[in-house]
Amino acid sequence: MSKGDTSVTDAALSGLGKMLSGRVRLPGSIGYERSTPFNSALISQPAGVVTVADQSDIATTIRFAADHGMRVAVQATGHGTMAQGDDVLVIHTGDLQSCSVDPDRRLARVAPGVRAGRLVRAAADHGLAALTGSSPGVGVVGYLSGGGIGPLSSTFGVSSDYVRSLEVITGDGVLRRVSLDEHPDLFWAMRGGRGALGVITAVEVELPALTSVYAGTVVFPPEHMEAVLRTWADWSAELPDAATTSLTMMNLPASPAVPAPLAGRPTIAVSYASVASPQRAEALFAPMRAAGTPILGETGQLAYADLASIFNEPTDPMPVCRDHVIIGELTTPVVDALLSAAGPTSSTTVTTVEIRRLAGAFAQDPPLSAVSHRDNGYALTATGVVSPDAGDVQADVNKVMAAVAPWTSPTLVRNFTDTDDPETLRKSYSSDTVARLLAMSNNYDPSRVMAVNGEITSTAR
Ligand SMILES: Cc1cc2nc3c(=O)[nH]c(=O)nc-3n(C[C@H](O)[C@H](O)[C@H](O)COP(=O)(O)OP(=O)(O)OC[C@H]3O[C@@H](n4cnc5c(N)ncnc54)[C@H](O)[C@@H]3O)c2cc1C
Repeated sequence: MSKGDTSVTDAALSGLGKMLSGRVRLPGSIGYERSTPFNSALISQPAGVVTVADQSDIATTIRFAADHGMRVAVQATGHGTMAQGDDVLVIHTGDLQSCSVDPDRRLARVAPGVRAGRLVRAAADHGLAALTGSSPGVGVVGYLSGGGIGPLSSTFGVSSDYVRSLEVITGDGVLRRVSLDEHPDLFWAMRGGRGALGVITAVEVELPALTSVYAGTVVFPPEHMEAVLRTWADWSAELPDAATTSLTMMNLPASPAVPAPLAGRPTIAVSYASVASPQRAEALFAPMRAAGTPILGETGQLAYADLASIFNEPTDPMPVCRDHVIIGELTTPVVDALLSAAGPTSSTTVTTVEIRRLAGAFAQDPPLSAVSHRDNGYALTATGVVSPDAGDVQADVNKVMAAVAPWTSPTLVRNFTDTDDPETLRKSYSSDTVARLLAMSNNYDPSRVMAVNGEITSTAR
């Protein structure tokens, strides 16, 4: 449905603004641009952006959307935002910034606009670790809503398993506190369902006691790419739960912003983080370091609060095309296929092929979590930066996907699935989970006002 098919007008949207403590930003007005996705290749044109000031604004906006045949999408930082059409109101939570830590209970209470870096620092002040992902700029609540795979996932598992309670305004406009004991069905859905049934207005999350880790990223030159990839495939499969690793085949542009050893040529990086003693962690990494001659980077003992720095994730929006698959094992044919599609002689325009090992505690399946597919394996994401002189980047991303297609599993990781295609999205859930979310939406989102809900359940109805 487009805005043209609904009863909503700009006057009605302005009327909504009068009911709020926050603001409605219409197309062309200041603040509307806050709905721009972090992936700036996506053109998002929602009917309006509601910069909410409190929980009540969220409930009012949801009810308004339902009354006017519209849908709502929620956005904090834009890191996982898809393009929205003019039948959608974006609920922008970026101004909701409350973040507190209770060191005695080892719990943080986080509002939906808070970014990972802020929570990590707040927890570190008390010797505690917030289990966030590789980018300090990602929103804590958005990350946890989809599960969350962090740099220590083999040791601690899926980050949303540490969520102890949530406050959520469901698609029927009702605020509920949910936990193992209160509305456990909704607690299940919100730990992994990525906001399918409602907008999370606060999260209470457990913080393990951890102040330092052994970690780092080591980069090797093109002539060692094959040896490093083959070694990593075998070495990573045998790592104990105390260590987590990822590998990135890189093809960074010749730009002053890129460190000279990496600029304008293919390189390969291995990231590693371990909670073992420094001696044991170093010994575990030794065979990997010996696979080539590093040109950049080091490993060593780091403050936990600095762990994300080893990934050097982009801080500014950029236009990208991206695809993601899961591969069970990195066998010799898979490695051969990767080298042929994205190796040093491939001339690929794909900027990064990142492979994260999913293992150890990642495979734990706690009660009440909608995160599906916790099998051991590897999450592969190919990303190309789109620019006028970059060539056909999408074709090269597709080439990587086609090369590994014979070995991919029919499943995906929700947080790495950047699409609004219902069929693809549903691959990040088991069929039982999709069916359960669909059944629950009849109670909690009867008007199907949550845009994400529609995307997951639309053709499953
Ligand atoms: C550079 C980069 C690094 C990343 N690293 C990791 C990583 O290491 N591990 C990992 O697991 N993921 C990672 N991701 C994926 C990221 O965790 C998801 O895209 C996450 O949903 C982003 O949340 P956000 O609030 O920052 O983004 P937004 O675009 O603001 O929100 C994305 C989605 O999150 C959901 N959401 C956000 N807020 C709420 C809310 N209040 N209530 C309900 N649903 C909500 C909605 O579905 C929304 O569409 C990364 C993404 C990027 C771009």
